[in-house]
Amino acid sequence: MLKMLLGKQCQSCGMPLKKDEEGGGTEKNGSKSTEYCSKCYQNGEFVNKKITANEMQELVVGKMRGMGMPNFMINFFMKDIPKLKRWSS
Ligand SMILES: [Zn+2]
Repeated sequence: MLKMLLGKQCQSCGMPLKKDEEGGGTEKNGSKSTEYCSKCYQNGEFVNKKITANEMQELVVGKMRGMGMPNFMINFFMKDIPKLKRWSS
């Protein structure tokens, strides 16, 4: 249900791509990524290459707390992060 409301999520941090001010990350050729947001992915590479799924969870939780998101939303996002494409391989 929540998934449908959110639309496409970044496959690295789980944030909804439509909430990305830049409309998504960029590929090497300058085109927009359809899978990753601008915070995670620039010029065909991950911005923070060494980060683990756990660290990404902490980062996202901190960010969402700062945005004043309710806990159930935060838990929802956090649980899903290890299942995203970047971390599931
Ligand atoms: Zn992202």
